[in-house]
Amino acid sequence: QANERESMYLVSEFAQQHFSEILWKNELGKAIGLSYFKERGFTDETIKKFGLGYCLDQWDGFTSAALDKGYLLKYLEQTGLTIVKEDATNPNNSRKFDRFKGRVMFPIHSMSGRVLGFGGRILTNDKKAAKYLNSPESDIYHKSKVLYGIFYAKQSIAKEDNCFLVEGYTDVIQFYQRGVQNVVSSSGTALTPEQIRLINRLTKNITVLFDGDAAGLRASLRGIDLILEQGMNVKVCSFPEGEDPDSFAKNNDYEDVVLYLQEHAKDFIQFKANLLAQEAANDPIKRADTVRDIVNSISKIPDAIKREIYIQECAQIMNVSEGVLFSTLAQIGKKEV
Ligand code: ATP
Ligand code: MN
Ligand code: MN
Ligand code: MN
Repeated sequence: QANERESMYLVSEFAQQHFSEILWKNELGKAIGLSYFKERGFTDETIKKFGLGYCLDQWDGFTSAALDKGYLLKYLEQTGLTIVKEDATNPNNSRKFDRFKGRVMFPIHSMSGRVLGFGGRILTNDKKAAKYLNSPESDIYHKSKVLYGIFYAKQSIAKEDNCFLVEGYTDVIQFYQRGVQNVVSSSGTALTPEQIRLINRLTKNITVLFDGDAAGLRASLRGIDLILEQGMNVKVCSFPEGEDPDSFAKNNDYEDVVLYLQEHAKDFIQFKANLLAQEAANDPIKRADTVRDIVNSISKIPDAIKREIYIQECAQIMNVSEGVLFSTLAQIGKKEV
């Protein structure tokens, strides 16, 4: 079993090398893939650092190259790099093709730097095809246990004692290139406890940076309670409507990005309270809902002293008595037992 997994790692590492060789040396790779990354503002150094690549828009360009090199179809299939379509009438006539055909490639690394899988982005505006495609779950790639960028970010996360959590691949890369290197992404999957535990080994502080759109807001609200449950501190920072960390870091220099983060990263209570203020400041029912929502988040915090401090903060911000908040907290506690 260990050997099987090693074979899957090896074929994934070959794939990463193959896709970046196409990007840098193949005429189509340069014209399509490399120029795409350059348009996004990535430097040569960044593209190399993150091992980005391109999978040619052919049916089996990569698969043939891998088979020629002696990699077994079995592992190409198990890693999902190759899709095999069986011919029901003739087993010798199965067709093999590249899962990531025509996409720019983002290799996904483990904490220790091994290639586990890939994200591939489509380059056309075809609304029917998924913008991003990921490797399927496999014996080496468990989506829920991986954070994109963790290999590059780990030192900086420990040094800064904080981790920025963003939504996508390009957000991680653009931030890193701008000089904010303590950044990782859950890349399309909803944040999981295992992913938070990876960060927990390096720091107790997470700042969630989400896209300035409704989907981003929803995702970050879900993430907050999960982070609190693990006894970690969470701040939230939003971006202007229509912007994401990628576009923001592309259009602003290092000092402005850092300043923006300092000024807009809010404690989760402040963040939830502000949401309400925007929605319906004078609506008592909505205000009550928000207070309950905040107390519910506070109830997830394992440490009793921290809970108490947050209750005090909530009472001040929402202008309600601490007493009623503590009794609400106690009620929530009972319901869960
Ligand atoms: P880009 O800037 O390249 O257009 P993005 O990273 O800003 O992409 P979002 O639409 O904000 O993309 O989505 C955030 C993340 O969610 C992506 O980076 C990707 O990991 C994942 N994702 C987005 N669309 C899809 C999709 N159709 N299928 C699977 N995952 C997706
Ligand atoms: Mn988005
Ligand atoms: Mn985005
Ligand atoms: Mn984007």
